[in-house]
Amino acid sequence: MSVDARRAIDDAAYVLRAADVPNAKREVTLLLAHVLGEDTGFLYREPERLLTAQQKEKFDNLVERRSAREPLSHLTGHREFWSLDFLVTADVLDPRADSETLIEAALLRCKDVLQPRRILDLGTGSGCLLLSLLSELPEASGVGIDKSEAAIAIARENAHRLEMDERAEFALGNWGRERDEKFDLVISNPPYIPNGDIAGLQPEVRDYEPHLALVGGSDGLDCYREILFDIRSLLRPGGLLIFEVGVGQAPEVGRMMQSAGISRIEYHRDLASIERCVSGLLAR
Ligand code: GLN
Repeated sequence: MSVDARRAIDDAAYVLRAADVPNAKREVTLLLAHVLGEDTGFLYREPERLLTAQQKEKFDNLVERRSAREPLSHLTGHREFWSLDFLVTADVLDPRADSETLIEAALLRCKDVLQPRRILDLGTGSGCLLLSLLSELPEASGVGIDKSEAAIAIARENAHRLEMDERAEFALGNWGRERDEKFDLVISNPPYIPNGDIAGLQPEVRDYEPHLALVGGSDGLDCYREILFDIRSLLRPGGLLIFEVGVGQAPEVGRMMQSAGISRIEYHRDLASIERCVSGLLAR
């Protein structure tokens, strides 16, 4: 029996709701759009389009995986960030809308720095932060570092797809320790979840996202300590540092930055009004 798009969406939304998946209707619409190779507007244009048996089988399979709480981006292989399309796999952190705060903060504070030409992104994952920033700063180029070889491969692929491979280099490394260059701008969204909080995360994150990209030590702040320890060899005097932080971590990270010689600290809120990023300039 053939099923039309509207019916398929309603049935699948019911399945996802039963599995406690938030925004069930939106999610199934995105999944069906992915299967049909359409944008989500097709549902308004052609709600009565019949699915082929093959499309229905593929869709049912994705809905089943989503109801087991596999993240949407792993099922479609894509995530939009800063209005750009990023490839995403289980090897990289799924780019979060919250992290767009870092891009806004960087653009806002770039006026404090003379022409930020060279950018370093520590723990680059999919490369979403570096590439989004480069899309806004056509004169700039940068380096994204990650500990995961698989992540570096995804970031390179993203740079290629976004036609920024000339300006974005991606390399394996330990927070850029092995780089012999001082950058104008250093950005990082490091793993910041305290070890003890991992078990309580939502299943999409806990069961499917790379723990290397999440776990930040007993208080969640280990990576900030490690990066700040090296900051003078990574950032030029007068250069800008921007960290993304977890909920409630901003004041402590701001203090740690100050102790490491970073001044003119500013805090940047995300759309939920949470202090999501901390920025400052390295004293000259
Ligand atoms: N920089 C990437 C992002 O913000 C990955 C961050 C990470 O793996 N912790 O999405």
